[in-house]
Amino acid sequence: MLRVNLMDLDREGPVRMERDIAPDSPVWEDIEREFAGPVQLDLTISATATGQVLVQGTLDARLHRRCRRCLVDVVDEVHQELNLVWALRDDFPGGEDDEPEAEGVRTLDLTNNELDLGPALREELILAIQPYVVCTETCKGLCPVCGVNRNEETCDCTLEEPDPRWDVLRALKED
Ligand SMILES: [Zn+2]
Ligand SMILES: [Zn+2]
Repeated sequence: MLRVNLMDLDREGPVRMERDIAPDSPVWEDIEREFAGPVQLDLTISATATGQVLVQGTLDARLHRRCRRCLVDVVDEVHQELNLVWALRDDFPGGEDDEPEAEGVRTLDLTNNELDLGPALREELILAIQPYVVCTETCKGLCPVCGVNRNEETCDCTLEEPDPRWDVLRALKED
């Protein structure tokens, strides 16, 4: 599905690939996220004179998530610019012993004359997902005492607990 025929690429030049990849595609297997729609790919695939394969473009995904502060549902729009390089192992700058990952270069496997973009795109999506999201930067979150959503309601709770980190500073001052 996301395979590129390397012979065609060599013969016919750069290829544009615009694809919507469904959330249930095996490409996204084990990404434990709830997708709000297909993942949109807009890629240009080209081969260099030195035999490297370049993939440039964008990946856009929409995920159902929860605001970290107030827990409301949020659609997280993930946008990733892609600039991927594949090279034959012999062509890595340090020769065969060089670690491909260190250079951001992936190993080009010529078996079947095909390049499967799936695993790299999966990795790129995982890296692009932020560890948490908020509904708005100014989200006031939930009251830690009564649990109301403080964006919608105000409550009379008083937060007596001072931040324990200040205790350390206070102790230093008193010394
Ligand atoms: Zn929120
Ligand atoms: Zn409260």
